[in-house]
Amino acid sequence: MSKLAVYPGSFDPITNGHVDIINRGLRIFDKIIIAVGYNPTKSALFTVEERIEMIKGLVGDNPRLVVGSYSGLLVDYLETVDATVILRGLRAMSDFEYEFQLALINRRLDRQVETVFLMTGSKWFYCNSRIIKEAASFGGSVRGLVPDDILHKLKEKYPLLREGNARKRKERC
Ligand code: ADP
Repeated sequence: MSKLAVYPGSFDPITNGHVDIINRGLRIFDKIIIAVGYNPTKSALFTVEERIEMIKGLVGDNPRLVVGSYSGLLVDYLETVDATVILRGLRAMSDFEYEFQLALINRRLDRQVETVFLMTGSKWFYCNSRIIKEAASFGGSVRGLVPDDILHKLKEKYPLLREGNARKRKERC
């Protein structure tokens, strides 16, 4: 029996933290559906179509990764793709409370559903789409936090964005 997981999120845009969770997930699951959630209450930088396009570009022709999208209840989407496992990533403790609530409500909505949490690599502890967008909007370099292709897409949205490496200052006392 092949092991399938759905990795849902906003992916606005996909970051190296997300990529890390996907790569870790591939060590456990045979196939992962990366599902871009349409959330009308969140104002997004990229449209769902743009996000799907960007993720597809990164996934290439890997047969173990599928890119999809959903609106409405995640458990309903799981049923349509015949999956019972949700993959989520954990960063700092601050993620825990929300993720715990989400996992419990999803389990309540569908008793078949289990959520599997993978801990991020320490490099990506503070890597999240919101902070990346905030820094990029003011021109700050976010190279290394998102895949290079995504960096170019961010540059299209934020012309001020510096594409070089983060600024280094000389140590002084
Ligand atoms: P974000 O919180 O960055 O906007 P999403 O809503 O797209 O991300 O999150 C989708 C899933 O990916 C969530 O489980 C989230 O905790 C996880 N995730 C996001 N960034 C990271 C990261 N740097 N390391 C581990 N997991 C992450």
